[in-house]
Parts: sequence; C-alpha cells; structure tokens
Amino acid sequence: MEERSVVLIVLDSLRKDYGDKYIWPVLKKYGFVKFDNAVSTATWTVPSHASMFTGLYPFQHRVHPTESVPISLVRFKPTDKYLLNQIKRNTVLITANSLVTPLMGFRGFDVVKELENGFFMDPIKMLLSEKEVQRVKRLLEERGLRYSHPIRKFLYLIKVGEISTATRLVLRETMKFVRGTSFVLTHPNWPLEKGVTQAINWLQARKLQQPFFLFMNLMEMHEPYEKTFYTDAYITKIVRGDVDEERWKTGYERAAIYLSKKLDRLLSILHSNYDNLLIIVTADHGQLLGENGLWSHGRFLHPILLRVPLYIRFPENPEELWTSTKDGFVSLRKIYDIVLTGRPPKPEPLVISELYACQTSKSIHEPCHKVGVFYNGNGEERFCVVDMKDKRSDCPPEVKKKVKLLIIGSRIRKNLIRK
Ligand SMILES: [Zn+2]
Repeated sequence: MEERSVVLIVLDSLRKDYGDKYIWPVLKKYGFVKFDNAVSTATWTVPSHASMFTGLYPFQHRVHPTESVPISLVRFKPTDKYLLNQIKRNTVLITANSLVTPLMGFRGFDVVKELENGFFMDPIKMLLSEKEVQRVKRLLEERGLRYSHPIRKFLYLIKVGEISTATRLVLRETMKFVRGTSFVLTHPNWPLEKGVTQAINWLQARKLQQPFFLFMNLMEMHEPYEKTFYTDAYITKIVRGDVDEERWKTGYERAAIYLSKKLDRLLSILHSNYDNLLIIVTADHGQLLGENGLWSHGRFLHPILLRVPLYIRFPENPEELWTSTKDGFVSLRKIYDIVLTGRPPKPEPLVISELYACQTSKSIHEPCHKVGVFYNGNGEERFCVVDMKDKRSDCPPEVKKKVKLLIIGSRIRKNLIRK
C-alpha cells in the first residue's frame, strides 16, 4: 500500500444490473476488470461500510442495531483492524452520505470533504437529541401514532404532558422543512445531482500528494428520485409500497445515465493527474425497484440488494492478476484486503450477508437476526436464508450448520479471548 495510491469509490445504492448496463461501459475504457460474484455483507450503508473498513462480517464488527440500540443510533467504532489505522499517509474522504462521516465514526482521514446533497437535511441534533427523538418515537409507537399526521402527534404529546418535547418537535420539523425548501430552491438540478459535481470540481482544483488513499461515497443512485425529503412521512410511504412506480424506475435509470457521464469525467481527471492508480468501484448495497412488491433497501435480505457491482482497475497486468470468480463469491469485506495488498480477491465457496432490523407490519425496523447465504450447490449458485432467532431456515442442513458454526463459533472465541 505504501508505494501505491488507491482510490475506492462506493456508488451508494447501485444495483449490479444497472451497474453492468450503464457504469461498466465507461469503466472498460479505463482498463477495469469486472467481478461478477460480489456480495455485500449488509443491506444498508453503515454495516456495509464497516465491513469494507475492517474486513469483517457484521457479526464480527458488531456495527448493527440490537434490542437496545435502534438503527438511528448505530455508529462505527474504529478498532485496530480499522483500515485507516493500517494506512499511515495522505488519506482523503469525499462523502455525499452523512452516514459515512467522522461524526458517524469513520475517523482518521487527513482530509475530509463533505458534499452537500440535500438528502439527510441535518444529522446533527436540532433542538431534540437523537435519544429524545427515539423516546418520543417509542411513545408514539405504543399508541399507534408514529406514522400519523403531525398535528395528531403534537396533540397527543400535549395531552400526556410532553409540552416542551412537543413544542421542540414541531420547531424541529419546521426547521427541517425550511432548510429543505431553501435547498431545493437553490439547487435546481437536485435530486439528479447529489454531490458528484462538487467532488469532480474539488479533485480538479488540487493535486494530491502520492501515495494516497482516496475514499469516495457518491449518492446519485440513492432515493429520492423526486423533489421530496427523507422524513418519517416519506419513509412510511416507501415502506407501505405507496411509491410512484414509474417515477422511481425512470428516476433510477436517469440517475445511472447521469452518474455514468460524471464518473467518466472523474476518472479522466484521476487518469491524467496520477499514474499507477489502483481504483475500486463498487456499491454498498443495491436498490429494490418493486421486486416482490418491495422498494428501497435496508429492511430485507433480497438478492437484488446483496449482489453488488465490483470493478477494479489494477495498475499493471490486470489479465495476469485476475482470477476467474466463477467458482465462488467475493464478499464486500474483501475490499479491505484489496486496498491493502493490491491483489485481486480470492473467491469463497460460501459468503454471508446479515440483517439485524427487519420490516414487520408493526414497525419499519423490528430487531431480528437473519443471515442470507450465497453458496455453490451442485455446481449452481444458490441463495437461502437462516433466521438466527426463531431457528427457521430455507437452507439445506449442511449450509445452515456451517453458518451457525461460523457465527456462534466466532462469538465463543471472542468471549474466550476477552476472559
Ligand atoms: Zn448506502
């Protein structure tokens, strides 16, 4: 790693099929190699990035929701195995995703450029702390009011004596709305443009000292695909499947076309400014566009969410370095090794993806632990699911046994080490 500069670009929420259709033709021109069997370790941003940055599965790095930690309070905690602790010099973070920032635990970068994307309006506390927000949400959920009209919520909170909380909640929502509206008015190209142009301009304006590690998260493929904000009301609509199907599908395709052109520009800048770059382009998870009546990501274990694009440009002799991945799968946690060694990933016969917050009829995120398994069975690629909580599984017994040995065995080993 020390002599080589590495660029890792995560195109957040890019499905493999759209990646192959729109992004791959651009990358081919720059000498990239395509890996067809890449599998994410999780279905949403934070645990998936945690795997790339530690080389571990979620059951090992433990960056996921639990019974007591709701999804909104999940944070990454750097350990010795953290990628940034292995790379000593010139590390740069360019991010359009507020979940992949130093505030969320991805610390240690020498330079940080946070792109303005108008998606999460403000991750920092606005009048109510995140803990207070969770408390109010639970209170409303118990009464079945969590996704009802804001005025009904406000009146209920007043009725139960939560006057100060209710007032601050209304002010917080109003501030979010005002910020959101002013953002839309000043950014006519949003939501097609979610920060990639700022990233291009930033890179064009400076010459990074080599060797460097540049990590980028670009959000163009992530919803929304219409001028709306990621509020509770919007999420509820997605969860209920109450989305404008045409708008999502055409919006997603337009985003892929737009991003492919911008990526071409970005790579041409990198190509002309630096020699011998190792460049990895991938996605942290896919995006559901109505498959099985499901939309978005983060709440289901669906192969569309888990099969991710993976394209790598090796600095020299890509043909020699490349080994066929036909006989196995490449888990996204292997990004860690690729960045550090510059070697192509070795396919594995069995890889897993995990879900710790399932969607139920009661709530968007109900604690659970399900494991999706990709494996080769009778020479064919297969996918099955083990529910670690109620012990149900549609996996063959031998696959289920291997997964349990892997997960429970690792926990026991960890406990032994701690003692
Ligand atoms: Zn993501």
